[in-house]
Amino acid sequence: MFLGHGKKCIADAVKTAADNGLSFGAPCPAETELAQRICNIVPCVDKVRMVNSGTEATMSALRLARGYTGRDIIIKFEGCYHGHSDSLLIKAGSGAATFAGASSAGVPEAFAKYTLVLPYNDETALDSAFKKFGGKIACVIVEPVAGNMGVVPPKNGFLQKIRSLTIQYGSLFIMDEVMTGFRLSLSGAAGHFNLDADIITFGKIIGGGMPVGAYGGKKEIMDFISPSGPVYQAGTLSGNPLAMAAGNAQLKYLQAHTEIYDEVEKKGEYLETEFKASAQKNGVDIRVNRTGSMLSVFFTDSEVLDFASACKSDTEKFKKYFNEMLKRGIYLAPSQFEALFISDAHTCEDLEKTVREFNEVMKIL
Ligand SMILES: *Cc1c(COP(=O)(O)O)cnc(C)c1O
Repeated sequence: MFLGHGKKCIADAVKTAADNGLSFGAPCPAETELAQRICNIVPCVDKVRMVNSGTEATMSALRLARGYTGRDIIIKFEGCYHGHSDSLLIKAGSGAATFAGASSAGVPEAFAKYTLVLPYNDETALDSAFKKFGGKIACVIVEPVAGNMGVVPPKNGFLQKIRSLTIQYGSLFIMDEVMTGFRLSLSGAAGHFNLDADIITFGKIIGGGMPVGAYGGKKEIMDFISPSGPVYQAGTLSGNPLAMAAGNAQLKYLQAHTEIYDEVEKKGEYLETEFKASAQKNGVDIRVNRTGSMLSVFFTDSEVLDFASACKSDTEKFKKYFNEMLKRGIYLAPSQFEALFISDAHTCEDLEKTVREFNEVMKIL
């Protein structure tokens, strides 16, 4: 909720749309408008398809990658979350290039067999996976800044390595921007890192609070989707007029107020600096990872670069921190492995209060 939980222009757009019809089970003009907006904003998206959630977006993007390449294996990274479809709910394997087991009951081993799980930020593991399975790999899917193991930014060169290997082996590069899209910059991580992906998935921010997901990419790839191509995907409620109205209102507002991105960067920097100073003053070991308005405080004294290092955090300490902050009126995401998001609605007073309470909590941790 990049503009806060109840941005008036978004709520108003939804109310107006509701008076014109809740659902048509067919495309509506607002859907075309939102699609055009996304294509104009994100350079590597020529065509986009609306769905109803981030899960649907990544699930459909995988099917498209497999259909387009005629290959079955996908690569994902340990600690990255891409929604709850079968192929993506796979636990991490112990080492590079080992096939992982399913991480949820109800996911058949046969699905897990086609999902290769590698450590985030590990170029060597990526190299050897492509050497071994290159011609069979349909795609690599990645959170360009991981936010689902706590915030873990990509090392310099990591995303570029994915780009160059996928080009070399004829695989597709799927950037899962469900979290980073329209947040790290108006054009998301693609714009922030100046990266070109084959398919980008969206969710969260594009719906302005309504259930929307989307996936888009290069024209020749998107043309593989039904009805123009052989990869089937459809949805009765996709492109729903209320959700499209919210998405348009949100993106229109962001397009007209790009100064928000500098402001949330400054707010993020403020929290990062103050948190670090306060922890140090009080002798508490923390690591703060941050990219723009995404931030995590890890209770560890070592660098957090991937899921294994995130897991070195003291989760008992996190629990105490979370509850003490809550008692003081600051409601954080309730897990060491989640991110703290700064929105346009957070005022300077909100952030100053957060820092003050953080300091009180550090004294007793
Ligand atoms: C939240 C999230 C998803 C799943 O989106 P839902 O709308 O919850 O299904 C997928 N990928 C990433 C990176 C996410 O953060």
